[in-house]
Amino acid sequence: PASASQQPRPAQPATTDDSGLGNDAASLRRSFLDHVRYSRGKNYESSTPHDRFMALSLAVRDRLADRWVKTSRTYYEKDVKRAYYLSAEYLLGRALGNNLLNLGMYEAAAESMQEVGVDLTNLLEMEPDAGLGNGGLGRLAACFMESLATLAYPGMGYGIRYEFGIFTQDIVDGYQVERADEWLKFGNPWEIVRPEKAVPVRFFGRVEHHQGPDGRPVARWVGGKTVVGVPYDTPIAGYHNNTVNTLRLWQARASEEFDLLLFNAGDYERSVVEKNDSEVISKVLYPNDAFQAGKELRLKQQYFFVACSIADIVRRYLKNHTDFRDFSRKAAIQLNDTHPAIGVAELMRVLVDEKRLLWDEAWQITQETFGYTNHTLLAEAMEKWPATLFERLLPRHLEIIYEINSRFLRQVQIRYPYDQEKMRRMSLVEEGAEKKIRMAHLAVVGSHSVNGVAALHTDLLRRDVLTDFAAMNPERFNNKTNGVTPRRWLAWCNPRLSKLITSRIGDGWAMDLDQLTKLEAHAEDPEFRKAFRDVKRANKEDLARHIRDLRWVQLNPDAIFDVQIKRLHEYKRQLLNALHIVALWMKARRDPSTIIHPRAFIFGAKAAPGYHLAKLTIRLINGIAEVVNSDAGTTGLQVVFAPNYRVSLAERIIPAADVSEQISTAGMEASGTGNMKLMLNGALTLGTLDGANVEIRDAVGDENFFLFGLTADEVIARKREGYRPRDEYNQHQELREALDLISTGFFSPEDKHLFKPLVDSLLEEDRYLMLADFPSYMAKQEEVAHAYKDADAWARKCIINVARGGIFSSDRTIKQYAEEIWRIQQTPVDP
Ligand code: PLP
Repeated sequence: PASASQQPRPAQPATTDDSGLGNDAASLRRSFLDHVRYSRGKNYESSTPHDRFMALSLAVRDRLADRWVKTSRTYYEKDVKRAYYLSAEYLLGRALGNNLLNLGMYEAAAESMQEVGVDLTNLLEMEPDAGLGNGGLGRLAACFMESLATLAYPGMGYGIRYEFGIFTQDIVDGYQVERADEWLKFGNPWEIVRPEKAVPVRFFGRVEHHQGPDGRPVARWVGGKTVVGVPYDTPIAGYHNNTVNTLRLWQARASEEFDLLLFNAGDYERSVVEKNDSEVISKVLYPNDAFQAGKELRLKQQYFFVACSIADIVRRYLKNHTDFRDFSRKAAIQLNDTHPAIGVAELMRVLVDEKRLLWDEAWQITQETFGYTNHTLLAEAMEKWPATLFERLLPRHLEIIYEINSRFLRQVQIRYPYDQEKMRRMSLVEEGAEKKIRMAHLAVVGSHSVNGVAALHTDLLRRDVLTDFAAMNPERFNNKTNGVTPRRWLAWCNPRLSKLITSRIGDGWAMDLDQLTKLEAHAEDPEFRKAFRDVKRANKEDLARHIRDLRWVQLNPDAIFDVQIKRLHEYKRQLLNALHIVALWMKARRDPSTIIHPRAFIFGAKAAPGYHLAKLTIRLINGIAEVVNSDAGTTGLQVVFAPNYRVSLAERIIPAADVSEQISTAGMEASGTGNMKLMLNGALTLGTLDGANVEIRDAVGDENFFLFGLTADEVIARKREGYRPRDEYNQHQELREALDLISTGFFSPEDKHLFKPLVDSLLEEDRYLMLADFPSYMAKQEEVAHAYKDADAWARKCIINVARGGIFSSDRTIKQYAEEIWRIQQTPVDP
C-alpha cells in the first residue's frame, strides 16, 4: 500500500562515517546482505520480509555502534553530570525509519534496497511498534530521549522491558477486543542485553535493627526473596550528530541461588513456579492511562525498575568517585510522574543503610538529586498505596517513609503551629479506614524541583492539588510545557510538508524549530498557500487509501478531516464529539443543505480494558459510523474508528488532519502533546482552554484557533453552584434529540438498552460537563465548516499554526529541564 513515507524525502547530508562501514548505498547493501547471511543464516533468495527487516536494522545498528561507544566514553572521560530519566513508560514506536533519518541515511537505504529489489517503505512496515506506554506520558519520554541525544546532552533513560506492551486493539462487531502485544515475538534488533550488569532486587523479608560498630543504629533488610534485573540497552541516536545515548530497560529474571536452593532440595516443580513468580514482574504494561489500579504487581514493577536503576546510577558514580557528597553534582534523577517516586526512599536506603551516611547528609543529597514531574490533577490517577501492602513488600521503605514524614511534619508544625488540618493534608500518610502512602507527597518532599507540564496545569497544581506544598516551598515549583520532537513528528511523518518548508526556509528547522517563524512571510504568498494545500490534499489521499486498504471505509479526500486521536477517557470527551455527529447527522437528514461542507470524522483510541464507559463509547462511535456512512452520499458525513491507535498510526493520521479535536473539560488535561503534533502538521485546533491548548492559542492568535467551552474556573464555579445536566438537556433541542436517538437503541440494534449507562452518566451526573459545553461546541463546529469553505484563508491559518509551532519542540522543553532543573551541560561527541 502507498503511504506518506513513499514520497521523496528532503535530501539529507549524510553524517560523517566514523565506523569505517560506509554510509553509502553500496556499503549498506553489502552489510545488509552480510546480515541476511550471517545473522539470519539465510541466502537472499530464501529470506523472508522479516529477515530483511532484521538484516537492514542490524546494518543500521552497526552504524550506530561506534558513536554509541564513543558517547559513553566521552561522558566518562569528561566526568560530566548526567540526567537520568526514570519512567515506567516509553512509547517509542518504530525505530528503523527514525534511525535512518537521524543518521542522514534514508536516501542511501532506499537506494540500496532498491538495488536488491526491496521496497524500503514496505520493509519499514515490518517493524512492530515498541508500545511500552499508554499515551502522552510514555510518548513524552520517547520524545525527551530523542531531544536529549540531538542536543548532545548526557542523558539516559531507565524503564521496564515489558514483554507485552500496550494491548493490540481489534474492533469486532463495533466492540474493542484486546489481544496481547507480542512485540518481541520475532526478536528485537535494536536491543543489546547486558547480563554482566544485572542487579539483585529484594522483596518482602524483614528489617533488623541493631548497633553498628561505630555505635550508630543500623537497619538491615534481610530475608524475603530476590529477583534479578537484567538490563537491555537501546541506542538513541541524535539527529545529524555523533551522540548516541542509551535507554536501559530492565527485565526481571528469577535469581539462580533461589532456584538452586529449591532445586537441590528436590523440589524441582516449586523452583519453576517461583521462577514464574519473579519473571512476571516485567511481563506486561498496565493498560491504564490516568488511572491508578492499585495492584500489588504494579508496585512490584515500580520498585523493581527503580531499585535496578538507582543501583546502576550509584555503581556508575562509584567508578570515578568515593565521596557521596558530590553525588548530586554528577547525577540528576527525574521522576516521570509518581510511578518511580519510591526512588526517594530507595536512594535514602542505599545511602543510609548500605553506604552508612548520616540521615541529614543523605536527605540533602536525595533532595538535590531528584526532580518530580506531575502529569495529572485527576483524583483517580493519584497513586496511593496501602501501608499494609508496603509493609509486606518493602518493609524497610515503609520505615524510611515514616521517618521522612515525621521529620517533614515537624517542619510543617514549626512553620504553621496549631494547624492540625494542614498537617493532615500534607502528610505522606493518608489516615482513614485504610492507611495509605501518598506517592505524590513523597515525590514533592524528596525533590528540589516540582513541575507541571503546561502553564495552566502548573497554575492549577499551585492553586489546588499541591497548594500547601507550593505555599511552603514556592521556589521548588516550576513549569515545563511539554513538547514533541520535530524529527519524528514533522520531518519523518510528513515528508511532503517537510520538503515544502525546506524549499522556502532551508533545512535548519529540524534542529531549530523556531526557524519555522520564517514561514510567516510565506503565508501571504498565494503560491505557497496553494502548494501547502496540495501537500495536505496528497496526505489526505494517502490516509484515505490506507483506511480503504484496511477495509474500513472509503473516505472522501475533499471532506474536512476532523480528527480526534488519543486515549479514550471520559475527561477527553470523545462522547461530546459523538453527540455532535449525531446532532449534525439528524440535521442533515432533515435538510442536507444544512451541511456546509462534507466532513470525515476520524477517531483513534484505546480504552483501558476494565473501563466500561470508555469501551461503550467505542461501541457507540462504531454504531454511529455504521448509520452515518450508509447515507454519506446524501449527507456528506463519514465516521471512521481506526483500530489500534498507536505511534505508527499517528504518523499516518496527523499529516492528513484538517481539524484537531482537543476538547477535554477545562482543567482536566495536564498538557496534551497530540495537540502540538497536529498543529505542527497544519491542522487547526478546535479546543477548550485546557492544558497546552492555552499556549497554542496564545501563539497562533484567536483568529487561527477555534475556541469553545467553559474555562477551568467556570467549570469549578458551575459545579459549586450545583450543576444540573438535565437542565441542559431540557434547554437544547438538538442535544435532546441526539441523546434520545441514542437512548432508543437506534445505534445498537442488537440491544436497545446498550448505551443506557452512557446516557445515564450524562443525564445524572455529567462529571465532565459535556452537556454544558455542547451548545458552544456545536456552534464552533459550524464556524469551522464555514471557515473551511474559504480554502485559501484556511490554508493561511494552517501555515500560521505551523510557523508558530516552534515553541512546542521537545528541544525547547529539554533545554529548560537541562538548564533549570538538572544543571547539565551539552557535551558533543567528537567524530
Ligand atoms: N498516543 C499516541 C500514539 C501519541 O502519539 C500521542 C501523542 O502525543 C498520544 C497518545 C497522546 O495524545 P494526547 O496528547 O492527545 O492525549
